Amino acid sequence: MTVGDVEAAAGKKRFGAITASQADGSLTKIPVCVAAGARDGPLLYVHAAQHGIELNGIEALRRVIARVDPTRLAGTLIAVPIANPLALRFRRHYLTQEPGEPYSDEHPHNMNRAWPGDPEGNATQRLAHALWHEAASKADVVVDMHCWPWWRASAILGRGDHQPSAALAYAFGLGFVSLSSARPPSPDTPMSRMLTLVANRRGKAAITAELHGQWRLFEGSVREGVRGIENCMKHLGMLPGEPKPAPYYIDIAREPTAIIDAPRTGVFGPCVEPGAEAAAGQTLGTLLDAETAQGIEITAPCDGTVYAIGAIQGPTDVSLPATHALVAEGAQIAAIYGPDRQHHAPGIATAS
Ligand SMILES: [Zn+2]
Repeated sequence: MTVGDVEAAAGKKRFGAITASQADGSLTKIPVCVAAGARDGPLLYVHAAQHGIELNGIEALRRVIARVDPTRLAGTLIAVPIANPLALRFRRHYLTQEPGEPYSDEHPHNMNRAWPGDPEGNATQRLAHALWHEAASKADVVVDMHCWPWWRASAILGRGDHQPSAALAYAFGLGFVSLSSARPPSPDTPMSRMLTLVANRRGKAAITAELHGQWRLFEGSVREGVRGIENCMKHLGMLPGEPKPAPYYIDIAREPTAIIDAPRTGVFGPCVEPGAEAAAGQTLGTLLDAETAQGIEITAPCDGTVYAIGAIQGPTDVSLPATHALVAEGAQIAAIYGPDRQHHAPGIATAS
């Protein structure tokens, strides 16, 4: 198995790089690990950090790579922990994003709107092309690791109308999934150039993981990532054992059972984390009224699972004020899905 400058014989784990040539003649090296199983099986491509502030998947993949034993593996794992080293070093979602400039689907350097890349395009499009050409295009299955803000629980996104992708999404084992079967975006739109959708169009199973928390490493999210990738490998028959499903699943494409708005403008301090189970009447946090400096207890209006909690901001932003805990009166501070929204995975079948 050859990927970039890596050659891995069956039963071996090797490290190296995939190289993209830039317009100015420089080379961008993307680190890659290939674990070639001793036995035949599917080719799984997993990468993280297309966006440079989304770090949990990097550490999750480092741990998966460290743990995988190629002599006991069926099939091949191609792991790219830092898909976009230019954005990582720039400490932003993508190159040229200015401080305070919101995340945008339209930005020419948004890597997850650039697939399958362009060898003659901008620096980011060239990275996508190198990864696609050398690695992702060869895979049967693609897992794309992202992170969204801390105030949202981790979730798996995929095409519910593409059975292998939906089965993979459930196998990952996070309780929150988004498997909207809505028609895919029309061709020639930025959304149609998402890695998973490009992979789907080429007949591959593909999912996006959104681990919660950006800017730094969050241990809980990293562990969710490790467990999820290894669950996928079990589902695909690459590792022995069965994937451990979530106790129940909730489709976040559906409306939450309860949305809680701030009764006053103030500083909100949650006392539960996204993903926590809450009982009706349970305290979720305290809102410190900015006018009176008095605390207002915020409680759960129903039983359920907390999907979002905190000073919830709209589009992901790279400015410090967007991470501030002050919420305006009437702004959303929590979202809960009740037991009526829970379902079980419709049969996690092991792929052939
Ligand atoms: Zn992302």
